[in-house]
Amino acid sequence: MNTYLSDAEKIKEYVVGLRRYFHANPELSLKEFLTSEKIEKELDELGIEHKRTAETGVIGILRGKEASGRVTALRADIDALPIYEKNDVPYRSQNDGVMHACGHDAHTAMLLGAAKLLAAKRDELKGEVRFLFQPAEEIGKGGKLYTERRSETLGDAARVFGIHCAPDLGTGIVGVKKGINNASVDHFTINIEGKSAHVCNPSKGVDALYIAAQIVVALQGIVSRMTSPLEPVVIGVGKLEAGTGYNIIAGNAQLEGTTRNISEENRKKVNGLVEETANSIARLYGGKAEVVWEDFASVLINPADICDEAVEVINDVLGKGHVKTDREIYLSGDDFCEYQKECQGVYVYLGTGNADKENTRNPYHTNNFDIDEDALTIGAALYAAYAEKYINS
Ligand SMILES: [Zn+2]
Ligand SMILES: [Zn+2]
Repeated sequence: MNTYLSDAEKIKEYVVGLRRYFHANPELSLKEFLTSEKIEKELDELGIEHKRTAETGVIGILRGKEASGRVTALRADIDALPIYEKNDVPYRSQNDGVMHACGHDAHTAMLLGAAKLLAAKRDELKGEVRFLFQPAEEIGKGGKLYTERRSETLGDAARVFGIHCAPDLGTGIVGVKKGINNASVDHFTINIEGKSAHVCNPSKGVDALYIAAQIVVALQGIVSRMTSPLEPVVIGVGKLEAGTGYNIIAGNAQLEGTTRNISEENRKKVNGLVEETANSIARLYGGKAEVVWEDFASVLINPADICDEAVEVINDVLGKGHVKTDREIYLSGDDFCEYQKECQGVYVYLGTGNADKENTRNPYHTNNFDIDEDALTIGAALYAAYAEKYINS
């Protein structure tokens, strides 16, 4: 075992303080201005070189004493969500309507903790560590913004390591799953064009609201009748807007939703069927549908050999018996998958649930989400140990 965990325990106050700062000051995707300023300030204090990228992103670069040519990137997402926080805690969100309800405050704090641990060991490091503080994960944009700027962000990194909080795992447990971890995420908007008329005259109009309602119902038939029950698929419609008045046939309607798949094959098929369903139903009732897609994330797949590397690091930090290898697939996406297209990388899930601590087992994206802060030092130690292990080996 190495000393990263005990070293991290010595800076616990620093990491917890940062997590509470970020929690109290959450910012939405692509608007992480104060967050990135705070990150820069901390990196300055640690004497770590950094640069701004993609407006609200920050890349820290720590070069060891010896240049081995080996480079590892550590990634933390930094954005929050449009949720009104219900928790009554001293570090409650001061930005009403915006909340860190996915743990990105913890990720950011842990990565700064790792930066502090590694900066203290700079003389023993051979190679380069790149700290990727990534904006806009929640809207599926930040990962792509970073990989499009590969030389600025990943640089020559051959490995990328990421951590996400997991309320379903107890503190002290780390989920490392080989293969599929997260679903692909596609966002769709369906614009329906009808024709307004007096509600008493349905045949004179084209009812966009009726068409939209039929589409919402029919889409679920794709899941239950047209894909295998053995492979999970989700089609969710979360938004529907139509009409202008109770006695007017709606001339326009708009649906917004998302599809989730765990194979590229199903992804193509399901998205094609969504389009076909929308078009044919609209046509049937005399209207027109236009489906606009946005690709938020691909399926997140952890390569088996890189998982083994991570497990070795976790065992070195925590001792044996702390890894859960069979955590269930999550149909939420994560744009960490973008980095895995550029270099070998592994995404692990840090247990932050504790039955004795209020709210720490609440699911992601809920208004009373919280974490067990005892997990923060574990996360900081894992980030640091992973980087050292790779660049020094
Ligand atoms: Zn999230
Ligand atoms: Zn998240």
